[in-house]
Amino acid sequence: MDIRNFCIIAHVDHGKSTLADRLLELTGTVEKRLMRAQYLDQMDLERERGITIKLAPVTMSYQLRATNYQLNLIDTPGHVDFSYEVSRSLAAVEGAVLLVDATQGIQAQTLANFEHAQNAGLTIIPVLNKIDLPAALPEAAEALAELVGLPVSEVHRVSAKTGVGVPELLAAVVERVPAPRGHESEPLRALIFDSVFDAYRGVVVFVRIVDGSITPGSRLSFLATGASSESLEVGIFTPKFKKTSALSAGEIGYIVTGLKSIQGARVGDTITTAKAADPVVTVEPLPGYREITPMVFAGIYPADTKNSNKLRDGLEKLKLNDAALRLEPERSNVLGFGFRAGFLGLLHLDIIRERLQREFGVEVIVAMPSVAYHAEMPGGIRMIKSALDLPDPSRRIEIQEPILAVVIVTPERYVGAIMQLAQAHRGVYETTEHSSDARVLVRYTLPLAAMLTDFYDELKSVSQGYASYSYELKAYQPCDVLRMDILVGEEPMEELSSIVYTDEAQSRGRVIVEKLKNALPRQMFEVKIQAAIGGKIVASERLPAMRKDVLKGMSGGDYTRKRKLLEQQKRGKKKMKEFGRVSIPPEVYLALLKR
Ligand code: GDP
Ligand code: MG
Repeated sequence: MDIRNFCIIAHVDHGKSTLADRLLELTGTVEKRLMRAQYLDQMDLERERGITIKLAPVTMSYQLRATNYQLNLIDTPGHVDFSYEVSRSLAAVEGAVLLVDATQGIQAQTLANFEHAQNAGLTIIPVLNKIDLPAALPEAAEALAELVGLPVSEVHRVSAKTGVGVPELLAAVVERVPAPRGHESEPLRALIFDSVFDAYRGVVVFVRIVDGSITPGSRLSFLATGASSESLEVGIFTPKFKKTSALSAGEIGYIVTGLKSIQGARVGDTITTAKAADPVVTVEPLPGYREITPMVFAGIYPADTKNSNKLRDGLEKLKLNDAALRLEPERSNVLGFGFRAGFLGLLHLDIIRERLQREFGVEVIVAMPSVAYHAEMPGGIRMIKSALDLPDPSRRIEIQEPILAVVIVTPERYVGAIMQLAQAHRGVYETTEHSSDARVLVRYTLPLAAMLTDFYDELKSVSQGYASYSYELKAYQPCDVLRMDILVGEEPMEELSSIVYTDEAQSRGRVIVEKLKNALPRQMFEVKIQAAIGGKIVASERLPAMRKDVLKGMSGGDYTRKRKLLEQQKRGKKKMKEFGRVSIPPEVYLALLKR
């Protein structure tokens, strides 16, 4: 069989999923009457937000001249938080369509994805999309050609919306992307690039068959995890699951593994078939992927403590289809049973929060996200997942923070403002490069903690929306941080403790107590809000009492009576203050998240 495997990569919104639509149509994979925009974005949330979150494979059949081809396409997300989806897709294919929106030109994620595709040794087909729009930049094609190192005549010009240029592009994919090179006669080697959990059938893995072939009823052996099971069904994506009789070398498809736990079927692992008579399988595992580490941790609690079981169930189910999500049970005095969860970034966190609400009906509180710090402990490196994990300063343990290599792509005129912004976020300048389309590529090294909450918004605002950025983890470096505690009504609120830079502690403390003062509802009594470091108060505010007007309706000057009422009110408040605990409404956590 003639096979071509490729993916579509691009910056967010440059038209990947729309191009996939045209390919589905052109190959008759999806019937015209069933077609809808961004067909491969199957999740409700993807459709509503207009973004792709999950990689999406689909098998198409295509006739070019006398040959019939099986085309396996993987559509990918563009946002940097989901770049793990892209890197897993790249490992399953031989070619990449690199799409650039003609009105936007090359953006930061274009560069990042291009580099990854190049490092994966893929054949790259440069495509300029949205040529139907009058605002197309004349220099965009040149710049794209320069990036990929091909003559400008090799850049395809298409409109994923109208379909112009798409048939020619598809023909080029078949001609330029090499056929997969595996050997069907060798023992099975299948690379797991994704997995889902089906309540009835257990773990379903998405695989690229590198060598050999597989049919239902084969013994499966997972090389890295050591798990074994039996293949219950195999098939391809249409994009829905479609059963087939076998999958062979070069193909992309799924295997229903019969495993009941996702632990046995890790993404990046290699599956082979073990014969009962020959239990020693000597196949070389495929390279797999680098282990993904969370960048951000946050407490996830049910807004209603009655929902903690529902929360656990939801998070565990989501994890089955999200190789990057980390979970650890955690208990808080105030918020009850929840999880400390690890994410790839704040968008990832937000998507999980929203999916919990939609798909599992659990409203959650997100408590104080924190960067994943490392502590150099005697026994090795320990991951710091919240302020409460931070070792006592007196122990003089070195704390390290994640440092990012950041690439910002911007029109020339915003470079000054962007440099100021990066500097203000503890950035260390690296280089500037000019490209032929009057865009500038500025590289910085920046701590994740300094850019976590507001860097993106500020970058968009100083560049009027024109600049884009992308980053990867570069290193862990020593940093000078402290644990800051928050006291409300003299009670420490563990959920509000955070890790702050020593030189910013005082100012952060002031910002947090001020925000709390504005966000907390008034109580019947006055409440002190304080920030403390090592027991020492560094910032303090008072939330005035909600004063019920006990004198309302009293006219005239019965002075003693008035006094008596006011005295009574005062006594009552004192009592309440002794017993009263301030409960913190969920919105307050949200207000604190934004700087
Ligand atoms: P993705 O994030 O790369 O998958 O981008 P989408 O396929 O979701 O498209 C982003 C937006 O660009 C959508 O509003 C599309 O309708 C629009 N779009 C995509 N391709 C074209 C095109 O060729 N011309 C025009 N005018 N709009 C397009
Ligand atoms: Mg998309």
